[in-house]
Amino acid sequence: MALLEARGLAKRYGETPVFAGIDLDVEAGEFVAIVGESGVGKSTLLNCIAGLDRIDAGTLRVCGEAIATLDEAGAARLRRRAMGFVFQAFHVLPYLSVFHNVALPLLLLGQPDAGRVNAMLDAVGLRDLAARLPQQLSGGQMQRVAIARALVHRPALILADEPTGNLDPTTAERIIELLAAQVRHEGAACVLATHSRMAAARADRVLTLTATGIVPA
Ligand code: ADP
Ligand code: MG
Repeated sequence: MALLEARGLAKRYGETPVFAGIDLDVEAGEFVAIVGESGVGKSTLLNCIAGLDRIDAGTLRVCGEAIATLDEAGAARLRRRAMGFVFQAFHVLPYLSVFHNVALPLLLLGQPDAGRVNAMLDAVGLRDLAARLPQQLSGGQMQRVAIARALVHRPALILADEPTGNLDPTTAERIIELLAAQVRHEGAACVLATHSRMAAARADRVLTLTATGIVPA
């Protein structure tokens, strides 16, 4: 099943076009990497797919739902249920501990599960820092909180925006392996925006985003 189906997506900010002509299908069990020059619109594309930003043309179906036509609350519900987003800028909540940041998606679904939270913290190597606040973390640790939070509720579609940008090579490989494992074992689909050759090499497909479309790299 196509978890993500995009046809003719176009986006501009004011008069400035970012991208156009984006056709993209991602099936369950597929790991797709998107590469492209800085500023070409990778983050914007992921935000549009998640319904966090508006497309100006085209159609977009996520888990069978036309997300771009939903209102904000509808898009938020679909994100909560079906998506995990690793933001380039993390967006961890400053007043919540590491544990509670990672627990939040499960709470919002009414499915608290401390065991699952601890398993995710183990998987990203943060179990010992569970009680800390984000301000007491390094950039790489914060990134791992963001990754654990994106995966804890076993989303069908994982959107990861340069998730290894702040990590040392060993940790970066571990994190990409974690994303790949969600795809292999949980049947998730993952769309990864990345500059990392290592990360792109782990993907089933690598696509290059340009101003006029998305093409095999
Ligand atoms: P990438 O992630 O590939 O580096 P971005 O998606 O962040 O690229 O940005 C694509 C283009 O859109 C850039 O030229 C950027 O300056 C512009 N842009 C991004 N967000 C906004 C915004 N909120 N308002 C206006 N322009 C934006
Ligand atoms: Mg970006």
